[in-house]
Amino acid sequence: MIVGAGPTGVLLAIELARRGVEVRILDRQRSRPQVTRAIGIHARTLEVFHQLGIVEQFLERGHQATGMAVHTRARRSTHVDFGGLDSPYPFVLMLGQDQTQEILDRKPEELGVSIERGVEVVKVDQGIAGVQLAIRHPGDDDCQTPSAGWAVGCDGAHSIVRRYLGVPFDGDDYGQDWLMTEVNIEWPLAPTAAPPGSCAAATCCSPATPPTSTARELYGQADAAIARDAIREAFRTVATVKPLVTDLVTAA
Ligand SMILES: Cc1cc2nc3c(=O)[nH]c(=O)nc-3n(C[C@H](O)[C@H](O)[C@H](O)COP(=O)(O)OP(=O)(O)OC[C@H]3O[C@@H](n4cnc5c(N)ncnc54)[C@H](O)[C@@H]3O)c2cc1C
Repeated sequence: MIVGAGPTGVLLAIELARRGVEVRILDRQRSRPQVTRAIGIHARTLEVFHQLGIVEQFLERGHQATGMAVHTRARRSTHVDFGGLDSPYPFVLMLGQDQTQEILDRKPEELGVSIERGVEVVKVDQGIAGVQLAIRHPGDDDCQTPSAGWAVGCDGAHSIVRRYLGVPFDGDDYGQDWLMTEVNIEWPLAPTAAPPGSCAAATCCSPATPPTSTARELYGQADAAIARDAIREAFRTVATVKPLVTDLVTAA
C-alpha cells in the first residue's frame, strides 16, 4: 500500500509492479497538481527514466539547460557548465513537475496499476502481521480499513504515515517567504543556460516549457499585480539584464 501519488509514490509503484509485486497506490487529491513546483530533472534521474523506457517522453517536452549562471548584486558571480557530466544526459532537463507527473502517471497504468485518487489515509496501525489503514473519500465520514503487508509513506512533507510511526522531522523550516511565479519573459541570454539566479536575494529563474494555467485563474487579479511588481523589483536588484516580463502566468 503506497500512501501518496506524487513522484516518489508513483516511481515506487512502477518499480514494485515491474517486479510483480501487487500494489495499491492512494492519493487524497482528486487530480494531479496543476502548478509547476520542481523544475529541474538531473542526469541520474534521466538515466533511471531511460531504464524505465520513458526518457524520450521527457526529452521531447523538456528544455535542456547545459549550464547555470549565478548573478549576485548585478554581476555574474559563477557559471557552472554541465557539459563535463559523465552521463548520456549532460544537462539539467527543465520541466515542470505537473508535466513530469503526467508522464510518470502513465506507466503504472501500463503495468496494470490504477492510481486511486480522492482517497485519504487518516490512520495507520502497525501490527505484527502487517499494517491496517483507515481510508476515506473526501466528504464521506465512513472509513474503510484495508490491510496490507507493508505501507509506504510517500505522502510528502506533512506525512501522516510518519506521524503514526512516531518518526520525528529532524529539520528546520526556512525562515523566509518565497514567491514562486511563472512568467513569459524576454532577455538577451542564451536559452540553453538557466539564467539569472541568486540564492541570497531569492531570485532563481529557469527556462521551462509553457505552463497551462494563468495567474488570474489561479490567484486572482490583485495577487497577480503584486507578483508582477515583486518580479520586476527582484530583477532590478539582482540581475545584470533587464528582462521584459511580457506575461505573468502563475504566482504563489
Ligand atoms: C513551490 C515548490 C517548488 C519546488 N521546486 C523544486 C525544484 O525546483 N526541484 C526539486 O527537486 N524539488 C522542488 N520542490 C520539491 C518537490 O516538489 C518535492 O520534492 C516533490 O514533490 C516530492 O515528491 P513526493 O512524491 O515525495 O511528495 P509530494 O509531491 O508532496 O506528494 C505527496 C502526495 O501525497 C499525497 N498525500 C498526502 N497526505 C496524504 C494522505 N493522508 N492520504 C493520501 N494521500 C496523501 C498528496 O496529495 C501528494 O500528492 C518544490 C516544491 C514546491 C512546493
